[in-house]
Amino acid sequence: MTNAEVIAIGTELLLGEIRDSNIQYIARFLRNLGIDMFRATLVGDNITRIAQAVREALHRADIVITSGGLGPTVDDPTREAIAMALSVPLEFRPELWHQIEERYHRFGRQPGENARRQAYIPQGAVPIENPVGTAPGFYYEIGSRVVISLPGVPRELEYLMDTKVAPYLKERYGQQGIIKTLVLRTAGIPESQIDEWLADFERLSNPTVGLAAHPGMVDIRLTAKAATETEADRMLENLADQIRPLLGDSIYGTNEQTLVQAVANLLNKKHWSLNVLVCGFDSNLLTDLLNSHLDRIAISYVQAPCPEIKPTPEEELFQLGDQADVFLVASMQENGPTAELVLQTRTPTIMTSDKRYFGGPPANRSIWATNTALDFLRRVLITNPI
Ligand code: ATP
Ligand code: MG
Repeated sequence: MTNAEVIAIGTELLLGEIRDSNIQYIARFLRNLGIDMFRATLVGDNITRIAQAVREALHRADIVITSGGLGPTVDDPTREAIAMALSVPLEFRPELWHQIEERYHRFGRQPGENARRQAYIPQGAVPIENPVGTAPGFYYEIGSRVVISLPGVPRELEYLMDTKVAPYLKERYGQQGIIKTLVLRTAGIPESQIDEWLADFERLSNPTVGLAAHPGMVDIRLTAKAATETEADRMLENLADQIRPLLGDSIYGTNEQTLVQAVANLLNKKHWSLNVLVCGFDSNLLTDLLNSHLDRIAISYVQAPCPEIKPTPEEELFQLGDQADVFLVASMQENGPTAELVLQTRTPTIMTSDKRYFGGPPANRSIWATNTALDFLRRVLITNPI
């Protein structure tokens, strides 16, 4: 089965100055072609280290894709590094130089001597013309393997992947089936609990099940590889049908759906307005989210510090926020390493309260409290229809 590795080149990636997006783009791209990607490497702008990374990757993978370091400056080392890895010299390609000159002229500029560097590619490589930038890419075939080098600017890399690399890989390696994912989004249940419930599923090899925890939420990612999209979808739905009953109401959505959207849908459907009282954490997170999704705007009463962490007497809660159909109180108190969140809500018919605890990193408390308050409200709205 064809497999690929990606090498993202750039010292600024290793210094933490920019966040990689090219590996992510290529990973999704390969997934759609059904090509397995087993490893990705970040390497700085150093010819020897890049050459070594490329050689190693070629021992393991059929397809090695590099991103970055193809610009005109001396610190753009990828051409030299690939030539070194393949033990071939660099070769001046007049047709590439012509394209580069033409591009410069189109923008009313004169290519300098350093722009000529971009017209050199390893001897025996096939150029990949870059109509959206000046740095051309190239690929070099070694038997059934290939190294593909693309410029680092994400817009250029993405364009070349879509228009040049996709048809090339399809032609040479064929569509390898398709890899599809389905994400079940849950809230309100700790990752360890879900892990226990889904342990047997997490050992499957196709489809696979993986968990990703976020404050107050856990995503369950199902991934299936199959010959056709229909077959992959069928495998995913089959598996999801087995998992859904174990999670019940904890699943608030799938794929791109968000928790706030789930809450807003419930409120909007009933044409209910909402007031919230938030204290003890960054209230904007919650109110901004709600305001951007609700038809009937949330009004926030923000109080800091919290008045008192004890359930508000029922009558008081019914009076507070009485302009709105639903009233939500989320009040957090930090208690050493633990955060305590008191949640109360009243709908036109019922009043509910609960208390939750968070022991994760203090920097995540506000987002945890936000997600937990949203999930609390969501559960109240689905279990207590009017
Ligand atoms: P250029 O002609 O712009 O020099 P290049 O192929 O040499 O192209 P780099 O110099 O490595 O590419 O990167 C150009 C810019 O693209 C970087 O400054 C950075 O902003 C962005 N970039 C490079 N690699 C990545 C990456 N892996 N993820 C996201 N952005 C990246
Ligand atoms: Mg560069």
